[in-house]
Amino acid sequence: MKNTTATQSTTPSPIDAVIVGAGFAGLYSVHKLRGLGLNVQVLEAGSDIGGTWFWNRYPGAQCDVESLEYSYGFSDALQQEWEWPTRFASQPEILRYINHVADRFDLRRNIKLSTRVTQAHYDEKSMLWSIVTDAGDRVTAKYCIMASGNLSLPRVPKFPGLDQFKGNWYHTGLWPHEPIDFTGLRVGVIGTGASGIQLIPIVARQAKHLHVFQRTPNFTVPACNGPADKKVEISVTSTGAGIESENLSKLFEPFYRTPEARVSNIPGVGLGLSVVKSILDMHGGEVKAESSEGTSTFIIRLDVV
Ligand SMILES: Cc1cc2nc3c(=O)[nH]c(=O)nc-3n(C[C@H](O)[C@H](O)[C@H](O)COP(=O)(O)OP(=O)(O)OC[C@H]3O[C@@H](n4cnc5c(N)ncnc54)[C@H](O)[C@@H]3O)c2cc1C
Repeated sequence: MKNTTATQSTTPSPIDAVIVGAGFAGLYSVHKLRGLGLNVQVLEAGSDIGGTWFWNRYPGAQCDVESLEYSYGFSDALQQEWEWPTRFASQPEILRYINHVADRFDLRRNIKLSTRVTQAHYDEKSMLWSIVTDAGDRVTAKYCIMASGNLSLPRVPKFPGLDQFKGNWYHTGLWPHEPIDFTGLRVGVIGTGASGIQLIPIVARQAKHLHVFQRTPNFTVPACNGPADKKVEISVTSTGAGIESENLSKLFEPFYRTPEARVSNIPGVGLGLSVVKSILDMHGGEVKAESSEGTSTFIIRLDVV
């Protein structure tokens, strides 16, 4: 593979693909395109990889999708070797995972950090993209892939007087890398969306006074986070490979909590049950079916050890 370094002041020869952003999407893209034999260059504005999970370091930041689901599925080996410590991974855990993936698949050699793309023009004649960075460098490429995320540009509200505010203020999407101690301070949190509700309980524990400004209440339920159940994780990941079923994750969702699950009236459960049977062959366990008034309930117990 050719060396694809992009930072030359003279226009270098075209490469196959420029990928903008080194979050989940950008990292997978570089892995996939490299696997197709293309030479690629990732340009990332941040000083490190991770995207969302690099920028959003506010206290309490965590995934609100179960970690098992919020993982790459392209490598069975990766799935088998990675263990999530908690059901809903925290921001540092996810960042650790992303870094592990980058190292494991040697993705960093194609990534240029601290480089923001400022322009991208397509030339119909040469059929090439011309991509310009904030350092004034230009890269030409056959393909330009915007893996730049849909939530990666923080919106700082234009509150009148903000520039004269004498205290410190922070934006969750641009959180500093060093920890901030709110102990003994009067703190206001503006917003009760997904980030706000994660941040508020942590700040409330530290601050002398916390005032929350809420325009629109969200419907929020407790995450009930806790240690990931390793036994169940093994049974799900080892059987997920190669099984095509839209209903698989729905069927296995109860197992994330307990090796015994009651599954009622799930569409496609017949297919799911054939999958369950193959798990039972591997791990042992039993399935009982109960039927009453048109409702079928399957009680599935795995003997995972
Ligand atoms: C606080 C927060 C919590 C979230 N929680 C969840 C969750 O629990 N479950 C879920 O499914 N999703 C969640 N999301 C959505 C999350 O963004 C996606 O799950 C996923 O991480 C997006 O990955 P991505 O690679 O597409 O984009 P990102 O992770 O946003 O990465 C895009 C990258 O592109 C870079 N970039 C952008 N513009 C340029 C440019 N011009 N030049 C160079 N680089 C550029 C950015 O710096 C960034 O690193 C959350 C998002 C946020 C903000």
